[in-house]
Amino acid sequence: MITCDYHVHTTYCDGKSTPEEVVKSAIAKGMTEIGFSGHSYTFFDESYCMTKEGTQQYIAEISALKEKYADKIQILCGIEQDYFAGEAAESYDYVIGSVHYVKVGDEYFSVDHTKDIFIDISKKCFGGDYYSFAESYYESVGNLASVHPDIIGHFDLITKFNENGTFFDESHPRYITAWKAAVDKLLSHNIPFEINTGAISRGYRISPYPSDDILSYISSKGGRFILASDSHSADNLLFGFDKIEEKIKSCNILKNI
Ligand SMILES: [Zn+2]
Ligand SMILES: [Zn+2]
Repeated sequence: MITCDYHVHTTYCDGKSTPEEVVKSAIAKGMTEIGFSGHSYTFFDESYCMTKEGTQQYIAEISALKEKYADKIQILCGIEQDYFAGEAAESYDYVIGSVHYVKVGDEYFSVDHTKDIFIDISKKCFGGDYYSFAESYYESVGNLASVHPDIIGHFDLITKFNENGTFFDESHPRYITAWKAAVDKLLSHNIPFEINTGAISRGYRISPYPSDDILSYISSKGGRFILASDSHSADNLLFGFDKIEEKIKSCNILKNI
């Protein structure tokens, strides 16, 4: 049974719980290690990320909690570094590299904010061609090694609103070519991929990221995985981990980072 979780948000970004509430919940759940991964500051969208000052307070508070709870749980201070953040993620215990935007011209568009925004981006930026949209997204994902991540976050976030093929066909050759190219590039850096249950706990999806097809491909190439709840509240730590561990015993899932 996996008792570690490294993808956790707090009130320093768009989470609902304070870091201490999260730590207490983690201890109550019998966890041995918890990693915080606040959203890195993105200058072009301040709606969900940590502020610049908040980031310093976050680092200080997690450091204080490490000491306060040292005899009960191991605490790590990480960051979820957006591909477009533009500033290096330094002085963290680990980095989750994630793509949350497509960049078109000088503008950044969130791929996971709302379904309506998702539709608008497709129309406005890609002439309604969701495969072009996906190609742009996966080109960035494939380049994530540039942010020096220890973990690849929610690899196919672009499918957040696409359960049951609502907007595009995930078996379309152009879609498959796009994600395979990204997987291959990332595998060459040997970075583990998340199996991320965050969209399930928040009611967007019934299956984790990445899709079964992508997971099988990564696994067949010797890739490694790490379970991630992408918790935005303290009660969602380890969300769905038991079911995933049961379902995909054949994959190489890391116990910790
Ligand atoms: Zn994310
Ligand atoms: Zn996250």
